Amino acid sequence: MKFTVVSKGDEKSNTLSEKIRIYLQDFDLILDENEPEIVISVGGDGTLLNAFHRYSHRLRNTAFVGVHTGHLGFYADWMPDDLEKLVIAITKTRFQIVEYPLLEVNISYTHGNKESTYLALNEATVKSVEGTFVMDLEIKGEHFERFRGDGLCISTPSGSTAYNKALGGAIIHPSLESIQIAEMASINNRVFRTIGAPLILPAHHTCRLKPVTQPDFTIGIDHITFLQKDVASIQFRVADEKIRFARFKPFPFWSRVRASFIDE
Ligand code: NAP
Ligand code: MN
Repeated sequence: MKFTVVSKGDEKSNTLSEKIRIYLQDFDLILDENEPEIVISVGGDGTLLNAFHRYSHRLRNTAFVGVHTGHLGFYADWMPDDLEKLVIAITKTRFQIVEYPLLEVNISYTHGNKESTYLALNEATVKSVEGTFVMDLEIKGEHFERFRGDGLCISTPSGSTAYNKALGGAIIHPSLESIQIAEMASINNRVFRTIGAPLILPAHHTCRLKPVTQPDFTIGIDHITFLQKDVASIQFRVADEKIRFARFKPFPFWSRVRASFIDE
């Protein structure tokens, strides 16, 4: 089996990554950065986001594992102390695969007919570059509301514990194929109205944002932010692709939620 290790880059993560490389090659696994079947991310949840985007072109052939070198994470849920157990699990047992839904983002522009498509593991955020963010929100092709405020966050179930949670969104179990729209500081008064609550859409219910005033936006896809000019619309839906995690031991989602936010 071919594998690779992606490190956060700090000394602790680099040392651990090197150990994993040596152990796995001792067990006759092949180090292959280009076409790994298993990607071991060493660092934090942010490191796994990086690893995901590095290999997002071959999700069907890749299983991810996260080892944390800082605090417990949602994607990085193995402890460095369990390293030997993990190596034995990878080399000796047939691991289980757990699939989580992803978000597909499709941006079309007012000039030309090219479109850009992105996949997000946590979320996409849309904010204005200057002044109040104003966009019309459509759900399943029908006008829903005109949103004024700081921006919107559209998250996956596994991303619901990240930025979305800070915005008052619900935590969604990753077995529910869905996306969640959370508001960032909407303007609500006698003139302007938004729903004022997070919305959860099932698979195949697309939502679309259309600029009302100016067409330039700051878009965030997980840990990456960039500027998009001349936007005609942005469409969001549950992606056809999924991320696959290699599971060697049960660590249920709600236990991870409790261990991360309530107590360890
Ligand atoms: P970061 O600044 O290190 O991330 C902020 C925190 O979010 C870190 O503690 C990170 O864990 C954690 N995190 C990432 N994915 C998570 C998930 N699915 N569930 C629970 N916590 C999660 O930057 P980063 O590591 O590159 O991560 C990017 C993410 O940060 C974005 O996707 C967004 O969700 C989140 N973010 C949150 C806020 C907010 O809460 N107000 C604002 C901006 C961005 P690690 O330390 O293990 O990496
Ligand atoms: Mn981080």
